[in-house]
Amino acid sequence: MFDVLKIREDFSILGRQVNGKPLVYLDNGASAQKPQVVIDAINTAYAEEYANVHRGLHLLSSIATEKYEGVRAKIARFLNAASEDNIILNSGTTEGINMVSYAWAAPRMQAGDEIVLSIMEHHANIVPWHFLRERLGVVIKWVDVDAKGDLDPEAVIAAIGPKTKLVAVTHMSNVLGTVVDVKTICAGAHAKGVPVLVDGSQSTVHMPVDVTDIGADFYAITGHKLYGPSGSGAIYVAADRMTEMRPFMGGGDMIREVTRDTVTYNDAPMKFEAGTPGIVQTIGLGVALDYMMDVGMGAIAAHEADLCRYARGRLDGLNWVNVQGQSATKGAIFSFTIDGAAHAHDISTVLDKKGVAVRAGTHCAMPLMDHMGVGATCRASFGMYNTTDEVDVLIDALELCHDLFA
Ligand code: PLP
Repeated sequence: MFDVLKIREDFSILGRQVNGKPLVYLDNGASAQKPQVVIDAINTAYAEEYANVHRGLHLLSSIATEKYEGVRAKIARFLNAASEDNIILNSGTTEGINMVSYAWAAPRMQAGDEIVLSIMEHHANIVPWHFLRERLGVVIKWVDVDAKGDLDPEAVIAAIGPKTKLVAVTHMSNVLGTVVDVKTICAGAHAKGVPVLVDGSQSTVHMPVDVTDIGADFYAITGHKLYGPSGSGAIYVAADRMTEMRPFMGGGDMIREVTRDTVTYNDAPMKFEAGTPGIVQTIGLGVALDYMMDVGMGAIAAHEADLCRYARGRLDGLNWVNVQGQSATKGAIFSFTIDGAAHAHDISTVLDKKGVAVRAGTHCAMPLMDHMGVGATCRASFGMYNTTDEVDVLIDALELCHDLFA
């Protein structure tokens, strides 16, 4: 049974004070806190079992390699990928999407070819495509969200033309919380012969994800939002897309043989993992995924749905708070402004004085902010360890902001 108070005991940082107040950590969309098992695993990996992977024949290297490689299978299970060979380990979503841009898209695109993006993408799923626009003359086609913050999958599919080579969309907006129907997008895009990259940075934290059912060609995840270490992550790549990719970075581990005049590559996925990887970070990510799967993704989703209903109700009671995004599929992310002169940074500073950590700014999503016509927002984003009592602390702190700034 899901017991939020018991879960909180696993995250010692949640017991600390900030500015003399108990910490209320609502910045999970930026990065989540780590359970003790992850911190312990990192300590053990460095204190007792550290060596480089894939290289040495000695005991420590074997232990490190076994633990590191074991994470590939865990990620495959977490995402329901067909095989661990579909999983390329990396430092996070930003690296994953940049890899697809360099290794898959760039070699098969030319001037005038198109990439379809939604307006609510994070910069990590925009800038790598701007690189191709600048270098190759590729055209970015934008699909807007509606007034509620919903992305119509049919509008995305309709935007696919004869020159479209890729659709790249988020599974869950880091600003609006909208969960996108990526399965319908994949089916429609595939019917037109176009692959789909899905940014799973936010979605995988909050709900069970099945990349096989979705039919994604590429699905990027980032470890630090999944209660794991920063600098860890992975990208799922469907088998046929994997064979189409050219190596991205060159170096150790990704080769089979190098001579003065030739080079042959390792098999995928190693072919796309050059150099010494984030060994301990990846081991920590594996433990974090075990932790999430033990708690149960369904249970986490149900708890957060309750939390969202409660937060929604309380925020709706404040008619001077403007929550961005009213999608029926909205998950545990609330971006908002408040009436009056208060800037998001000022609101966030007042909340911090009350121990409440939120993010303020443009959330690495400037095209969306521009589309919504807002300069900056505050964002309260929930994780599995947040409680309705913490929502109440947020609301009290917002009322103080209103008194101060209205
Ligand atoms: N995509 C989305 C939707 C995000 O929210 C983030 C992080 O905030 C990223 C991509 C980038 O993730 P990372 O910085 O971990 O690579």
